Amino acid sequence: MRVGLVGRGIQASRTPEMHRAEGAAMGMDLRYDLIDIDLMAPVPPLGDLIARAGSDGYAGLNVTYPFKRAALDHLDQVSDAAARVGAVNTIIFQGRRRFGHNTDFWGFAESMRQGLPGRAPGRVLLLGAGGAGGAVAHALADLGATTITIADRDSAAAAALAASVNATGPGRAVVATDLAQAARDADGIVNATPMGMAAHPGTALSPDLLESRHWVADIVYFPLETAFLRAARARGCATLSGAGMAVFQAVRAFRLFTGLEPSPARMRATFESFDTTAPA
Ligand code: NAD
Repeated sequence: MRVGLVGRGIQASRTPEMHRAEGAAMGMDLRYDLIDIDLMAPVPPLGDLIARAGSDGYAGLNVTYPFKRAALDHLDQVSDAAARVGAVNTIIFQGRRRFGHNTDFWGFAESMRQGLPGRAPGRVLLLGAGGAGGAVAHALADLGATTITIADRDSAAAAALAASVNATGPGRAVVATDLAQAARDADGIVNATPMGMAAHPGTALSPDLLESRHWVADIVYFPLETAFLRAARARGCATLSGAGMAVFQAVRAFRLFTGLEPSPARMRATFESFDTTAPA
């Protein structure tokens, strides 16, 4: 079986190895290719890259930055999650037809269910309304968050995400106007900005605003222990790292590619075998 990842700057991705190792553990001959547009000149249109993979016999593709939204234009059918989020990170080829899925959505939701068991999201402050923040916001709504207050330094992105969440359910998403007040009002806080990565040091919210009663999730996973999560742990908050979302999006994609039930624990072990402190 042949699958791959289409995107830019993907050489350090851990997703290929999670799929390869899981395939090998299940006795499959699973090849996972990197289709990295940084290594192509000229860069073919996305439609050509997808069509080529289909005609070359790929079972499916993962799709990442900068193509998650654009991929929607090259599919015959999309899952409910992909339609809600407005982005696709997994494509399945079936004959001449292409099906789009968003496993980031399920990945974050499953990470919450497994990592913070029994905890209702309640009122959530979401920092970051970019590609990943979109999947997280819709997953939070699906998990039953009572309000989702969205903060982004690009206020138009925050407003667009709030509108997108409210278009698919009760109007529970709003744009943050006062970050400190939003933190005081929240039960849980999620960082979906790149703050905390080596290239983006610092935090999107002052750690002084964290209280022990908050649950705190960070979806950054390079490094796994961000300054934000460290501060949350020091204050006694229940915390969730970005590993769960990264692993579970791959778990769901593996199931879609192969039709087989992978071992989340084994895929997580592969993920954790990488140096989790290294910069991306
Ligand atoms: P993106 O560039 O699409 O969006 C980031 C958003 O954060 C932008 O809208 C930007 O305006 C906003 N932002 C940046 N700094 C901010 C600040 N200080 N305060 C408020 N808003 C700020 O990026 P993305 O694809 O959404 O990824 C975001 C992070 O999530 C990255 O670190 C990425 O590695 C991580 N990620 C993790 C997973 C996972 O599976 N764990 C999956 C996808 C992305």
